[in-house]
Amino acid sequence: MVDNVSQIKERLSVVEVVGEYIKLQKAGVNFKARCPFHNEKTPSFFVSDQRQSWKCFGCGMGGDLFTFVQEIEGVEFKEALQLLARKAGIELQAYDAPRSSKRNQVVAVGSAVAEYFHQQLLSERAQPVLKYVKERGINDTSLEFFMVGYAPLASVHLIHHIQERGFQQQDLIDAGVGYWRGTTGEFVNRFSGRIMFPIANSQGNIVGFGGRVLPDSVARAMNHKTRDDVAKYINTPQTDAYDKSATLYGFDKAKQAIRTSDSCIVMEGYTDVILARQAGYENVVSASGTSLTQGQLRLIGRFTKNIITAFDMDIAGNSATQRGIELAQSMGFSLQVVQLEKGKDPADTIQEDPAVFSKALKDAQFVIEFYLKSAFENHDVDTPQGKRDSVAFLSPLLMSIANAVERSHWIRVVAKRLDVSEDSVWEEVKKGQPTHSADSYSTQKQPEKHESRDHLDTMRDEIYAHIVYDPGLIKEVVDNIPFIGADDTLSQVLQNVKSSGTLKKNKGKESVLASFNEPQQRRVDAILFEAERDKRELSQKTLLPLLAIYQKVILRQELQNLRTQIEKGDTGDYETLLQKVRQVTEHLNQIDT
Ligand SMILES: [Zn+2]
Repeated sequence: MVDNVSQIKERLSVVEVVGEYIKLQKAGVNFKARCPFHNEKTPSFFVSDQRQSWKCFGCGMGGDLFTFVQEIEGVEFKEALQLLARKAGIELQAYDAPRSSKRNQVVAVGSAVAEYFHQQLLSERAQPVLKYVKERGINDTSLEFFMVGYAPLASVHLIHHIQERGFQQQDLIDAGVGYWRGTTGEFVNRFSGRIMFPIANSQGNIVGFGGRVLPDSVARAMNHKTRDDVAKYINTPQTDAYDKSATLYGFDKAKQAIRTSDSCIVMEGYTDVILARQAGYENVVSASGTSLTQGQLRLIGRFTKNIITAFDMDIAGNSATQRGIELAQSMGFSLQVVQLEKGKDPADTIQEDPAVFSKALKDAQFVIEFYLKSAFENHDVDTPQGKRDSVAFLSPLLMSIANAVERSHWIRVVAKRLDVSEDSVWEEVKKGQPTHSADSYSTQKQPEKHESRDHLDTMRDEIYAHIVYDPGLIKEVVDNIPFIGADDTLSQVLQNVKSSGTLKKNKGKESVLASFNEPQQRRVDAILFEAERDKRELSQKTLLPLLAIYQKVILRQELQNLRTQIEKGDTGDYETLLQKVRQVTEHLNQIDT
């Protein structure tokens, strides 16, 4: 049985449909045009006939036939489906798109899980945790409003809870709450023993979680083993419903206030958002880190172009944050910076004295002012060198301001403060390239403070891109990764690709791409568009070194895990562990030679 989506895709090509809205030009294997979704002079909007997808390197948007129609017509998926069905001359069956049903399942299990964790936090057994959460300043109303929770060590009751609501263990896996343990096949809750913050999408549906470890004293009170080798915060991995780089914590609850106040306050942590809301600030979100991604900025941009950042760190000295700022400016945002006392986050400040926070907010400086101040602190601006270095420091930032009037305003301000001519600043700014702007932004990932697996994710996406580009390369991947750790997406994806028969039928790039989940598809598609644009080769020659490094990183991690297990002596079967260590070491040696 062929569903409507595939029927439409068979009859209509993305080039044909996009071509009805904008004028496309041939560019290598692809087509290009000036992007219909943002203002630009030179084309950075590409359409691929081979993958039936599109991507703009300017504003970052991209997708397939359906998303294009949704965006350009400003309609929901269902309406885009109807519109395209008419165009293709297809009669629609009862509306039942498979790709949205999987997402709905993930969303539904998400709220059941959040409910369970929340109940657990309020239970007798978790008293020490609840006490700690309240000491951090979170009151009862907020606990309820943000559904703060606690994930117990054992998963039996969690599984029981969701089964009672008609879900299965596999739904927990699909929702990213846990994974199967490789050797025993048992369910592992990746968040066990953590304080839980449910993360909703912009419609308010729970799509993911952030989990914080218990502080040592609380862990001891709960009779947990304390460990210092675990990340303080972890997040749900990418799922069918959760794309971290396009999600902001608290956005669903803040969006109305963002619209009415015409500004959005961006903070770093979950507690920051909760305490700010308690203190009466409703237009507050968290980026789960200090640098905003393109997807997050687009979300904010639907409601306001004014961002106020409140981070507890020296943002002028952080290059990742600076890239985020330049990216935001190049997308037309105006940015202000709130300065808090050193070493204090918004949550601390608000808990100590809300008035101090309110004053800091009132005194927020425009980002260029802020960086200008930092330039004055770090350079002797009375000397020619000091002036030169200051301008060099500020150039990328000035360059990234999208609006010409604003840019000219700030150049005048900088020139005046440094007591040099406006023309000379202009000249230097024109010479300087932004270190990061929407134009150069594509598949580079923002470093994220709470995730140590980014490097692996990036490599994995590169490997996926190779096998989509040339499905014949799947064999290389299978042959070269004989040993894969238990919780590994790559092995799962390979399994899917193999079992769906794509390898044999060789139906081409589009169907290989379709075996990944949506966020993965988008990232892989972006890598391919970029490779095609830059004429970068994707072949066995580029794949093999990548696989070697990937395998090394995985094996080293595995080795580290095994060693930790042995040191802790918390597993009975010592012999098996030692044998595993030997195996892994052997594999590592093979790669190294
Ligand atoms: Zn664009």
